[in-house]
Amino acid sequence: MSESKRLLDAASRMIPGGVNSPVRAFRAVGGAPVFIARAEGSRLVDVDGRAYIDFVGSWGPLILGHAAPAVVEAVTEAARRGTSYGAPTALEVDMAEAITAAYPSMEMIRLVSSGTEAAMSAIRVARGATGRDVLVKFDGCYHGHADSLLVKAGSGGATFGIPDSKGVPAALAELTLTVAFNDLEAVRDLFRRRGERIAAVIVEPVAGNMGVVPPAPGFLEGLREVTRAHGALLIFDEVITGFRVAYGGAQERYGVSADLTCLGKIIGGGLPVGAYGGSRAVMSEVSPLGGVYQAGTLSGNPLAVAAGLAAIRALADRRAYARLETLGARLEQGLRDGAQKAGVPLTVNRVGSMLTAFFCAGPVTDYASARRADTARYARFFQAMLARGIYLAPSQFEAAFVSLAHSEADLETAARAAAEALTV
Ligand SMILES: *Cc1c(COP(=O)(O)O)cnc(C)c1O
Repeated sequence: MSESKRLLDAASRMIPGGVNSPVRAFRAVGGAPVFIARAEGSRLVDVDGRAYIDFVGSWGPLILGHAAPAVVEAVTEAARRGTSYGAPTALEVDMAEAITAAYPSMEMIRLVSSGTEAAMSAIRVARGATGRDVLVKFDGCYHGHADSLLVKAGSGGATFGIPDSKGVPAALAELTLTVAFNDLEAVRDLFRRRGERIAAVIVEPVAGNMGVVPPAPGFLEGLREVTRAHGALLIFDEVITGFRVAYGGAQERYGVSADLTCLGKIIGGGLPVGAYGGSRAVMSEVSPLGGVYQAGTLSGNPLAVAAGLAAIRALADRRAYARLETLGARLEQGLRDGAQKAGVPLTVNRVGSMLTAFFCAGPVTDYASARRADTARYARFFQAMLARGIYLAPSQFEAAFVSLAHSEADLETAARAAAEALTV
């Protein structure tokens, strides 16, 4: 028996599904998850000693690759000075400066410990600032697992065909209205009918949790316009896209700014960090300045902030994004070529270094069109890639991430593996 299987059996007796986040259980692709022993650069090594080129990158944070020396050094040095004080530090000032400089719409920010907390808190602020209750989100967009947001939330939910979660009070779910991604007319219609009750529209400006789906031209601009016209706030959940699709996130890439922005993943450099922020006026609603309560024992944790700052500083060299674009394009081309040779209908959606290859004829523009993908075919592809040493997300409805640690040779290896795996 493999060591991974032995660990899974042991884990499954104590941890639901043997994992601490559901998609890790490989339920969507079958087989048993591999347990990881260590990682470096673009490589993961499992507990049985097998190495993989990793395109999951811890689901987005590891844009520098695994165990990036700058991050490891920053964390090590920070740990020597103590792991948590529950009091403010200079690091947090540096982090706030770096983020507010990159995201002009965030004049003030608050650090939290996860993307879930960031989105949950941003919504509380939006409700507090507007005095309204209703939230609009898009089918297949994921904003963490806060109650109000577990409605048509993609990813795990998309994979398991559960549009919702047990344990979420119906009364809360009723306050969340959902619309198809990229359907601006539907949003306008919703505002015409219920505009005076809508506190905020929350959106992944590039969807990543139904697989990658870029915004249609005019979609983000339209959301900006309709929210402003009705006195509602526009929340960009840039937990994936922040520092990923550009240094300044989707706001920089598409030239549309949000009232509130959520960050996570990359800004923690692989440690648990989230952030939310917006204009001085809106963020002045947050306690202790205002009446919206939000707190955290480990918020602004010095290890996590040190790691995140190291990551952000490495990205401040804008050549990083040109390189990520090149590498992303390589991966895309490799998949397209492989699919063409194999005669497999494949729709590759890519924005910079995030990409999804959907097993269906395109276009994939929203959750409904994403769901046309052949998930059984994806499962076979996933297993064939894993067997060839390529680690992809164990679900069709996730993104593949390229990092600065990937080499041209890694992408050639991945393309060769894909050419074979697409024929399986
Ligand atoms: C991952 C993710 C979250 C949740 O972040 P966690 O750190 O997992 O809580 C929220 N929004 C988006 C867009 C995400 O991709």
